[in-house]
Amino acid sequence: MTDLKKLTRAMTFAAQKHTDQRRKGERAEPYVNHLIEVVDLLVQHTGGADIDLLCAGMLHDTVEDTKTTREELVREFGENVADIVMECTDDKSLPKAERKRLQIVNAPHKSDAAKMVKMADKISNLKTILTSPPPDWTEDRKQEYFAWAKQVVDGCRGVNKGLEAEFDTVFKKGVKQFGMAA
Ligand code: ZN
Repeated sequence: MTDLKKLTRAMTFAAQKHTDQRRKGERAEPYVNHLIEVVDLLVQHTGGADIDLLCAGMLHDTVEDTKTTREELVREFGENVADIVMECTDDKSLPKAERKRLQIVNAPHKSDAAKMVKMADKISNLKTILTSPPPDWTEDRKQEYFAWAKQVVDGCRGVNKGLEAEFDTVFKKGVKQFGMAA
């Protein structure tokens, strides 16, 4: 399978899996907007040569948010892509607070590819909170999310300067907007 074919298959697969899902923001954007943004960030900041990284970026929420299994990803995209996606998948049997705590604790031990996907994911999420925040989120909740995302990204540093810098830029916008302590 050519690289381009593998990527477009991942796009089609993710689009189908997330068909009925919307972003939590006030505009309720199609979920696939988030996935494309993550892949775009990865291409911008890595040059895009690692096709498995881009496929994992496209598929990173399939196991956590849809009925996709690891086995399905292995069959369609191989072990490497499946492994990266699983590294970016929270254990949904745990309470939300514990899952969030574990993301911070585990971030430094992830593979370089998983760290890059996680950073791109957090950049996309912060951008969405700035441009189309969930309508029921208070300023406090937004601040909390920003602070938590920064802790996760701080654990991912050292693998891609561009993603780190872009995260810092978006984070600073939040600091300005919410009047947070930097
Ligand atoms: Zn995501």
